Amino acid sequence: MNYLKASKLSLKFNEPLKNYTTFGIGGKASVLVRPENIEELKFLIKTLLKTGENFLILGCGSNILINDEGFDGVVISLRQGDFLHIGNKAGNLEVGAGTRISTLLGFCEKNGFSGLEFMAGIPASVGGAIKQNAGILKKTMAEVIKDINYLDKKGEIRTLSDKDLNFSYRCLDLEFSVITGATLKLKKSSPKKVKENIRLFFNLKRQKQPLEKKSAGCIFKNPKFMNIGALIEELGLKGKGLLS
Ligand SMILES: Cc1cc2nc3c(=O)[nH]c(=O)nc-3n(C[C@H](O)[C@H](O)[C@H](O)COP(=O)(O)OP(=O)(O)OC[C@H]3O[C@@H](n4cnc5c(N)ncnc54)[C@H](O)[C@@H]3O)c2cc1C
Repeated sequence: MNYLKASKLSLKFNEPLKNYTTFGIGGKASVLVRPENIEELKFLIKTLLKTGENFLILGCGSNILINDEGFDGVVISLRQGDFLHIGNKAGNLEVGAGTRISTLLGFCEKNGFSGLEFMAGIPASVGGAIKQNAGILKKTMAEVIKDINYLDKKGEIRTLSDKDLNFSYRCLDLEFSVITGATLKLKKSSPKKVKENIRLFFNLKRQKQPLEKKSAGCIFKNPKFMNIGALIEELGLKGKGLLS
């Protein structure tokens, strides 16, 4: 990977990935790269696509299992620099892919933007939440997205608006893409009301999941027309483990 050493990119070789996942597990990445802005990311993606190197985009690592043997390739984190930008664009929020949802909710509360409160307690980055179409109950990221920016399979920046985005349950079906940011359509509200809503959703989540423990939240996806929790209980498997 000498071609990366010659660049100005921030590189960490043999970086333990357990520090970057909510489970706190996983071996080392051959190299972890932290681009600061879109130009650095474009250079990186174009180079990796040209060399054919294995790579992985990591958000907050809350929906990913890293092998104990680590990742033989390049892990890219967007959790710094321009990718943490939050700004007001003609009444809509423009947000970088590396931004934590909790940070974004703090901004929404302070500035009275409503519509994203259902994401309270989900330890995601904006990029990861969009890629997974994260959400709770029947509410998902799909309903707040106005458009997204991403790098395509040539490493070129593209924008797609909501009507062209194919969201489904916990999935955004899109060609090869590194999401760099999004514009969110939220409503103006009072900071007090937004705060109340955030607390409501956060408490709802805390009742169902031990947020202070290491986990990946819900392990299973719901099958079509069925709730997986109810199915596990019906089969008498609730609380069972390898040793119980
Ligand atoms: C305690 C806990 C509670 C949870 N509760 C919920 C819940 O209620 N609802 C829910 O839907 N999920 C929940 N999750 C799962 C998880 O938070 C979501 O799936 C979240 O969207 C993952 O975001 P992330 O930034 O951590 O992505 P990561 O886990 O880092 O990555 C997930 C996937 O997205 C890809 N990815 C990440 N960023 C980008 C990017 N910028 N561009 C392209 N691809 C990208 C990664 O390559 C990977 O394939 C929970 C997890 C935990 C630990």
